[in-house]
Amino acid sequence: MRRIGIMGGTFNPIHMGHLLLAEWVRSEMGLNEIWLIPNAVSYMKSEQEVASAADRLRMTELAAEENDHFKCLDLEIRRGGYTYSYETMEELVQTYPLDEFYFIVGADCLFTLENWKCPERILGCCKIIAAVRDEVSAEEMTKKKKELEQRFGGEILLFSFARLSISSTEIRERLRLGKSVRYMVPGNVLSYIEEKGLYR
Ligand code: ATP
Ligand code: MG
Repeated sequence: MRRIGIMGGTFNPIHMGHLLLAEWVRSEMGLNEIWLIPNAVSYMKSEQEVASAADRLRMTELAAEENDHFKCLDLEIRRGGYTYSYETMEELVQTYPLDEFYFIVGADCLFTLENWKCPERILGCCKIIAAVRDEVSAEEMTKKKKELEQRFGGEILLFSFARLSISSTEIRERLRLGKSVRYMVPGNVLSYIEEKGLYR
């Protein structure tokens, strides 16, 4: 049995905040692997500027290359259309019945979970690991965790993470303004962004 952490996102682009959270969860929670899964179309982000699925997938693959415990899965992008995390998690659990899955999210996601499609089905097949960030107090997170567990069942683990205040939004904004994003994304991802002229 492997313990596998799943981290989904638009990854538009993937950045050091995502990677650091994934690596810390892996090492501190004793996970064997982290699978990064770029979303096809995010129904929550459809109006914003989003790089093509192919570009976001490639950048995520490049980021995963540098860590032997990381890999990038294209199952959501291959499926296409709107992305629902419960479908992805149920598919993974069916495909790999001997493994144990953990769904890793940032604090912001914990506070929108009730608006997701079928949160009870996510919690029905894996545990959620939610990163406690500076902006949200531990008490607020604990309260939310209990409320969600009561409503949807399952288990939510809180992970204390001194958050890197990096977001994809900030990276896109800096690139638009011609500012450097070096050290905010891995070097090979930066090279890809520059080669393809993304987010200009
Ligand atoms: P955007 O600014 O476009 O919303 P983002 O940086 O929030 O992008 P997403 O792809 O939306 O990145 O996030 C994927 C997951 O990573 C979410 O669970 C989110 O909470 C988490 N996350 C994003 N940035 C950070 C960060 N700096 N530290 C920890 N977790 C993060
Ligand atoms: Mg976000």
